[in-house]
Amino acid sequence: PELLTRLASNFDVEPNLHPVSDAERENMIDKPAFGQVFSDSMVTMRWRDGSGWSDRQVKPFGSLNISPAAAVLHYAQEIFEGLKAYKRQDGSIWLFRPDANAERFQDSAQRLSLPNLSVEDFIGSVAALVRQDAQWVPSRREYTLYLRPFMYASEAFLGVRSPKQVDYCVIASPSGPYFTGGVKPVSIWVEDRWFRTGPGGTGYAKCGGNYAASLVAGNRGTDHDCEQVCFVDAASKTYLEELGGMNMFVVHRDGHIETPCLTGTILPGVTRRSLIELLNDRGLKVCEMMIRMDDLVNDIRSGDVTEIFACGTAAIVTPIKRLKSSNFDVTVATGEAGTLTMQLREQLLGIQLGEVDDSHNWMWRV
Ligand code: PMP
Repeated sequence: PELLTRLASNFDVEPNLHPVSDAERENMIDKPAFGQVFSDSMVTMRWRDGSGWSDRQVKPFGSLNISPAAAVLHYAQEIFEGLKAYKRQDGSIWLFRPDANAERFQDSAQRLSLPNLSVEDFIGSVAALVRQDAQWVPSRREYTLYLRPFMYASEAFLGVRSPKQVDYCVIASPSGPYFTGGVKPVSIWVEDRWFRTGPGGTGYAKCGGNYAASLVAGNRGTDHDCEQVCFVDAASKTYLEELGGMNMFVVHRDGHIETPCLTGTILPGVTRRSLIELLNDRGLKVCEMMIRMDDLVNDIRSGDVTEIFACGTAAIVTPIKRLKSSNFDVTVATGEAGTLTMQLREQLLGIQLGEVDDSHNWMWRV
């Protein structure tokens, strides 16, 4: 907490003089409309070519002032992150591996030709917002305050080049459990026509454009009664990559586990990385490899694959029951949530809530 206090203190605080009332806030936290309501404050910071980052502020949540010529509106120079603040029984508030999000933000910035933001400023900005809006962090199990740091080219200039003026912002939205009424295995549409990225593209970066490019595939999935879409590699249409917002793991009957390796087209998930470590702690080997889609389908059919799960900040660990595409439709084992899947889910959630020993020191007290 001392480190976070120091980093957060770099941000000047202008309190919101018209905050949401206590009753309204409690209601918003209790029945969160994720991504639709936001806490009282936000962080802003600006970058100007030649003078670097300045104007570190926590201020009332409100509209941004942006020129219609701002480069981001034309050329999509935008990156973002997603992480959560967790409140424990004792009222303390914690972040899960914010340093990993900060590092991924740096990698994304580099890919989009945006300026580097230090790990200290990233973590400081998030901590400053959480401290100011601590009352917005829900205390019910699986209820969190979702934090959304983002950076965009605000320079008013229609030329295509690295921007000379960039803005950074953090907003927060209360969120509830991904699955209301218990975890339910999901069906996945394996998309073979539209791809979110390709070799040499921006797949490993968390930039808005990747998500814009994934929407048509997601809509096709919805048309086929699937909750999520799974992408295969665009170059050969052969290998499993990831879901629209989650990474994937495959569990085999003999106990070995596979996950797609980070080829540059997949987002390196913080949850993915953490689960690999938790599985290694259990003495289970995780092969990070190119997984052929047709092998996977055959192994599901033969019963060799016993569990498939997806993972990410939002849904933690999510069982997958079915893979569907224009050429196959297979159910994983009995279609129920797998044992290992549910154990990992509980373990990770337990670490985040301080109920399970955090032997890797992943939690940061705000
Ligand atoms: N893949 C994509 C495309 C995502 O958007 C996300 C969510 N950030 C993930 C995977 C999972 O990443 P994380 O575990 O860091 O949330």
